[in-house]
Amino acid sequence: MTSGYDSNNIFAKILRSELPCHRVFETADVLAFMDIMPRAPGHTLVIPKAAARTLLDVTPTSLGALILGVQTVAAAVKTAMKADGLTIQQFNESAGGQVVFHLHFHVIPRWEGEAMRPHTAQMAPVEELVAHAARIRLALDAA
Ligand code: 5GP
Repeated sequence: MTSGYDSNNIFAKILRSELPCHRVFETADVLAFMDIMPRAPGHTLVIPKAAARTLLDVTPTSLGALILGVQTVAAAVKTAMKADGLTIQQFNESAGGQVVFHLHFHVIPRWEGEAMRPHTAQMAPVEELVAHAARIRLALDAA
């Protein structure tokens, strides 16, 4: 069952600065910040600023900016976290695993032989999110 865009979803509130986040990257069209329940250290979310519930609801222009943002952030996450690889995830609707109904891509650094933690399993300590956001911002500044 699909419904429309709820402007009170958590990411809409983050975009309006009604809720805090650990911000790593921002353009006129895109925002990236740390996932508070990371599946791996450095797990970052990239979202469009335009309202869109799922991948099927976003305009081509917004999607273009978003996927370029994903690539930029992915490169910085891989460098900052000294990762061997990256998993990029994107879920649509509850049946597809979506929990927050504002379109987003997950950028998850990966290391050989290390499994990802389960989805939305455990909150990370704030100090860890602060430290990883700072490392990723440094990698973005150096790029
Ligand atoms: P999805 O909708 O793709 O299934 O997952 C939503 C993601 O948002 C999860 O990985 C979850 O940990 C993350 N998340 C949920 N609430 C918050 C929040 O308030 N702040 C941040 N930064 N991430 C959140």
